[in-house]
Amino acid sequence: MARDNEANLGYNIYVEKTALLYCKDYLERENFQYLVIDSEDDIGKDSKKNIIFKIKKGKFLEPCPGTPSYICCGYYVLSPAENCPFECTYCILQAYFKSKNIKVYANTEDLIKELNEIKTKPIFRIGTGEFSDSLFLPSTNFYLEKLLDFFNKNENIFLELKTKSDIIPEIVKKYPKRNVIISFSLNSPVITTQEEGKTASVEKRIESAFELSKIGFPLSFHFDPIIEYDGWEKDYKYTIDLLFEKIDEENIVWISLGILRFIPALKDIAENNYPFTMIFKREFITGIDSKKRYFRKKRVEIYKKMLSMIRNKSEKVFVYLCMENEDVWMDVFGTKMTGKKLKELMDKRIKEWKR
Ligand code: SF4
Repeated sequence: MARDNEANLGYNIYVEKTALLYCKDYLERENFQYLVIDSEDDIGKDSKKNIIFKIKKGKFLEPCPGTPSYICCGYYVLSPAENCPFECTYCILQAYFKSKNIKVYANTEDLIKELNEIKTKPIFRIGTGEFSDSLFLPSTNFYLEKLLDFFNKNENIFLELKTKSDIIPEIVKKYPKRNVIISFSLNSPVITTQEEGKTASVEKRIESAFELSKIGFPLSFHFDPIIEYDGWEKDYKYTIDLLFEKIDEENIVWISLGILRFIPALKDIAENNYPFTMIFKREFITGIDSKKRYFRKKRVEIYKKMLSMIRNKSEKVFVYLCMENEDVWMDVFGTKMTGKKLKELMDKRIKEWKR
């Protein structure tokens, strides 16, 4: 019943009584030390060092919470866990969740049941990186094994595991499949060092991606959130150059670009948690979705520069914008884009990747 031992990698692991049946074998097999509790409320002070196994009562699978005025790629969000230990200053989860505790939902049978309900669809893209980092240890192995087993049997459904870590669980490496995309968020080294807390460096993330490409995984990269500061261009160029130096463009399924956006409540919370942050120092407008963004002209300028830096390295890699409106798409790419069209393009892209 001890906690915080070496095997726990410095985390305190708690299990709510109602969840014990579902995760006991796993925790004991992995030699984790844990404490059984009646409810999360029994713990006292919340912390990103606390991992709590509990039962999820709501749905695991939901459409990405896009806004009609912004073009969404139409993927689904799977939430086997909530919260993340990495401490990015801009992390929206600070505003979404009152508690810092990391929750892992033990009733994975219900998760698989929901996935089984959609497996007859012709094609389906799902991501797990919305409410947590997809690959952080030590709790991800708990559901990864079951998830990867499901995706191995259902090749028309595509899973994107998004991370800012460079530690790829061994269980993932055992399943190099074309329908499991390993996805790295990337940024400039300055933003990574100053604003992305305990995440891996840009160099380490790209090195991990390279190792995964050697064993056959499709890769994707998300420059999100892109943050403007004096000298941003040369720093983002460094990351883009390094990416294409190490990773063959043929192994990249897509790259997304998304400029910093946040709900107004985040600013005070983030500045309180991370007084050193510099990301809120620029001017912002309020978008139709009530989120703060840079002015449209500024966003277009940044996207065009990012796209040009990418195109200097690869003529054909698939690039899209995350949560932008039709006008910005038109200014950046010179083509009309809709949510339906983007979804079709991305479905086609992944379906045909290395066939
Ligand atoms: S890695 Fe993602 S989920 Fe984790 S703190 Fe950073 S932004 Fe939040």
